[in-house]
Amino acid sequence: MNKKILQDYTKQELSEIIKPAFRAKQIWNWVYHKYASSFDEMLNLPKAMREELDKEFTLTPLKALTVQDSIDGSRKYLFELHDGHTVEAVLLLMRDKEYHEDGFVKHQERYTVCISSQVGCKVGCAFCLTAKGGFMRNLTAGEITEQLRMIKKDNTIDANRRVNIVYMGMGEPLDNLDAVVKSVKIFADPDGMAIATHRQTISTSGLSSKIVKLGAMELGINLAISLHAVDDELRQQLMPINKAYNIQSIIDAVKNFPVNDRKRVMFEYLVIKDVNDDISAAKKLLSLLDGIKAKVNLIYFNPYGGTEFKRPSVKDMKAFQEYLTSRGLHCTIRESKGLDISAACGQLREQELEGEV
Ligand code: SAH
Ligand code: SF4
Repeated sequence: MNKKILQDYTKQELSEIIKPAFRAKQIWNWVYHKYASSFDEMLNLPKAMREELDKEFTLTPLKALTVQDSIDGSRKYLFELHDGHTVEAVLLLMRDKEYHEDGFVKHQERYTVCISSQVGCKVGCAFCLTAKGGFMRNLTAGEITEQLRMIKKDNTIDANRRVNIVYMGMGEPLDNLDAVVKSVKIFADPDGMAIATHRQTISTSGLSSKIVKLGAMELGINLAISLHAVDDELRQQLMPINKAYNIQSIIDAVKNFPVNDRKRVMFEYLVIKDVNDDISAAKKLLSLLDGIKAKVNLIYFNPYGGTEFKRPSVKDMKAFQEYLTSRGLHCTIRESKGLDISAACGQLREQELEGEV
């Protein structure tokens, strides 16, 4: 593609390129508030400027290839990038819209959008479908933010509506730190989507040095650690990255991470039957997180064709949770949102590549 992606630019950067500077704010308004997909729509810009912009920039770096609806209201999108690669993002309905008896809205729907940061992933976790396809390339900041803009537009979600963002789609966000940080800032800009950084969560497999770097930026972002195992031997088998960054290095990095007063660092623990679902693991987890403002999110392993791993039983999952909560550690079990559409990492893309969709 020879055109630049307009969404790759911060408002500040645009105002330095496009003169006079106030035009940048107008363009942002069209893009992020009115969901414009062409410069033609931007009627308060002079026609000559619209034509110039159109020669240089594209506003549509992503194309929705497939959309799958789940019975629980989540929607999974497969997007094609300009070079033909595909990534996925999921709109999760966390709470339905509810009405008072008199017909007034009691509260609006609550959405979380799960977005991708890379095509594929280098980390190569044994349980993860994204890893199976290898690593292709990093996404640019605009390709990251555009996933949300397209989903908001497609679902007519008002520009001012609060949406939470989780960087839990395909890829390892901290392996694409510069573009991810830029996307966080573009999301947060009050003239754009205005999604405060405390509504954004970066999930990482534990690149400790990058966690330190991210922390030093003081963005106010939430951190989620994909821990999945409590001893290095098992974690190394499941997540080869553990050879470079072991559990203790992650714990040390997290201890120094700036956490919002009202928030906790989330530790994700993917529970795999007969691998890491026993109470002795829960016990070790408890001592590992001692002294950290942490919460644990237990995730049911979501099986797919060709994997030897199995989904844990509800009973074991509840026992694991109960062990932690009864000892004062916040612990939730992630609802299997979109399970019927395989809303776990990499699973829609995989079906598409196999020609099942
Ligand atoms: N690379 C980052 C962010 C994307 S992965 C990370 O690993 O944190 C998002 C989450 O999906 C991770 O917690 C991962 O463990 C989980 N995941 C991967 N494969 C899964 C599967 N088959 N079932 C359930 N969760 C899975
Ligand atoms: Fe990469 Fe995360 Fe999948 Fe591991 S779980 S391979 S880090 S996307």
